[in-house]
Amino acid sequence: MIEVSNLKKSYGELEVLKQITFDVNKNDVIAVIGPSGSGKSTMLRSLIHLEEINGGSIAVSGHYLVMDGVYSKPQEIKQITSKMGMVFQHFNLFPHLTVKENLEIAPKMAKVESLAEIQRRSTELLEKVGLSDRAQAYPANLSGGQKQRVAIARALMMNPEILLFDEPTSALDPELTGEVLQVMKDLAKEHMTMIVVTHEMGFAKEVANKVMFMDNGEIIESGHPNELFMNPKFDRTKAFLNRSL
Ligand code: ATP
Ligand code: MG
Repeated sequence: MIEVSNLKKSYGELEVLKQITFDVNKNDVIAVIGPSGSGKSTMLRSLIHLEEINGGSIAVSGHYLVMDGVYSKPQEIKQITSKMGMVFQHFNLFPHLTVKENLEIAPKMAKVESLAEIQRRSTELLEKVGLSDRAQAYPANLSGGQKQRVAIARALMMNPEILLFDEPTSALDPELTGEVLQVMKDLAKEHMTMIVVTHEMGFAKEVANKVMFMDNGEIIESGHPNELFMNPKFDRTKAFLNRSL
């Protein structure tokens, strides 16, 4: 579904991603783990064109977002990135819009569905994330866990083929992480394709079919959670897991 090859990204002199190569298959739930500064967010943001890369290729369902460092035309980029939704650590909700309006604004602007259809789906998705009763609330009056569930529902409104999560529970009080992880587990059960940057090793073990360990701009190793957690091949992975588990 996504093919990333030799992806390179630098900020000035600093090489943040060093020739990264990996594939995402349909229905994959990939947990990305690694120390702070290893390039996890940059990798995720590159996939959805929030960062421009300096070399390598990214193809989504056979369509190149960027091939050997050369980006496709803006219209094509838009088409490709519209298949992806992203959920951020700090929610990024529109503060001046209600929960329901947060869900509906992007589809309304896209103008591909009728208003009635958009409203039907926003009602349905709020129910899915357990927030039907908060439809008219403003983000400031929600808990962190509720905000993040709104952010997930908002991403789902665009009917993404793949969802990218960047530490979706890292800004939450521990007692609120469970409700967000539960929504993500439900999505995995429904075979949503997901890439999740996370420190939640329990979630990675239970839900991911692949764990990718990044360090210093490289993918050091990746594999099924049982294999990677129980039997890491590299010292850097072992050291990281010892610190995290
Ligand atoms: P964390 O776990 O702390 O979120 P991360 O693995 O997501 O870390 P990135 O945010 O991708 O790491 O950052 C990778 C490196 O790139 C870091 O050294 C960071 O300082 C640097 N970096 C990220 N964004 C920029 C930027 N806009 N300008 C310059 N350097 C940046
Ligand atoms: Mg990050």
